[in-house]
Amino acid sequence: MQNQSHIFATFSRPDLVFERGEGVRLYDDKGEDYIDLTAGIAVNALGHAHPHLVEALKTQAEKIWHLSNLFRIPDQERLADRLCEATFADRVFFTNSGAEAIECAIKTARRYHWAKGSPERINILTFEGAFHGRTLATIAAGGQEKYLEGFGPKAPGFIQLPFDDDKALAGAIDGETAAILIEPIQGEGGVRPVPAAFLRRLREICDENGLLLIYDEIQTGVGRTGKFFAHEWSGAVPDIMAVAKGLGGGFPIGACLATEDAASGMTLGVHGTTFGGNPLAMAVGNAVLDVVLEDGFLAHVRDMSKVLRQHLAELVDNYPDLVESVRGDGLLQGLKAKVPNTDIIAAMREARVLAIGAGDNVVRFAPPLTVTAGELREARARMDAAFASLAAARKTGTGKNGEA
Ligand SMILES: *Cc1c(COP(=O)(O)O)cnc(C)c1O
Repeated sequence: MQNQSHIFATFSRPDLVFERGEGVRLYDDKGEDYIDLTAGIAVNALGHAHPHLVEALKTQAEKIWHLSNLFRIPDQERLADRLCEATFADRVFFTNSGAEAIECAIKTARRYHWAKGSPERINILTFEGAFHGRTLATIAAGGQEKYLEGFGPKAPGFIQLPFDDDKALAGAIDGETAAILIEPIQGEGGVRPVPAAFLRRLREICDENGLLLIYDEIQTGVGRTGKFFAHEWSGAVPDIMAVAKGLGGGFPIGACLATEDAASGMTLGVHGTTFGGNPLAMAVGNAVLDVVLEDGFLAHVRDMSKVLRQHLAELVDNYPDLVESVRGDGLLQGLKAKVPNTDIIAAMREARVLAIGAGDNVVRFAPPLTVTAGELREARARMDAAFASLAAARKTGTGKNGEA
């Protein structure tokens, strides 16, 4: 916590400084290596310092950094083409972050109904435990009190429903409903997958009621679950989708994808961004797709997902006092903890494996998609040591992480 005195006190950070990374590994200022199963919160999809991304960024840096959207950006057009080619979408708007991609999705949905002569249709239905970002509109969309408190009136037009509850959903739809917004797996909310059947029902309900289905695939997209996008497992396609995190492999980027019809209200001048879709971000985004869309890449993610699941399931078997179950899909998995998840994460960090907390007292794992079975085995060995020492400390009540 040193030397942070001029930084807003909104994040608590361990006293660690990383100087460099390579693949799944981070090296601190003492040269110690850590196995990074956080990947910058599902962002460093190809690990740290991936040579193809480094090369793309360096090459672009010597040409043009920034133009603004006053001018054509060929790499932006190319990335949009490739995203549309590989998904349901026909149109893309690039942003710098996930929250901005959601903001664009919300505006696109409302403007769609406005343009079709139904300006009263502004309400977006979302789900308890959802997370859609930290701007004023996206905290209203997520609806979680802990993010809304103290920031004035909640932006209108967002209604939270219980997770996976058909009755509540049917009761909530009226003449002012515009869209349904959902993460295929709630990431921050605790790595909670939405059943595929529920996504398919949402698609039907949207079709029956003239609503737009919006997916937040900011955390689950770009290969994270072993498909290009997580909703592909269900077969239920959206009308609009927000993407970010993994798409830039570590370079800030976001995107709002939409069908031609859903994007029909987003006409000349109605939305904009200075930095979104800038040449540096677009060069890296294209380089990420070069790798993720390569033959065999998603199959590797699916294989590693099974390996990770097996290790986590064995930890549940071996340490039933610490963790009770595994959840999630692909390389976005979580351990539901029985002790504070922060204790487990701290013990793992001492053993030089990095994981992330999530809601519902879950320890979240989002390794680089390039992680190998050998690296996961090594992470497991370190985790065994961490779990064993945490379990022993709790028994004697002497460990600094123990609750005595
Ligand atoms: C991270 C995240 C966001 C917000 O993205 P930012 O880039 O932090 O604005 C929104 N939705 C989901 C599902 C996320 O995981």
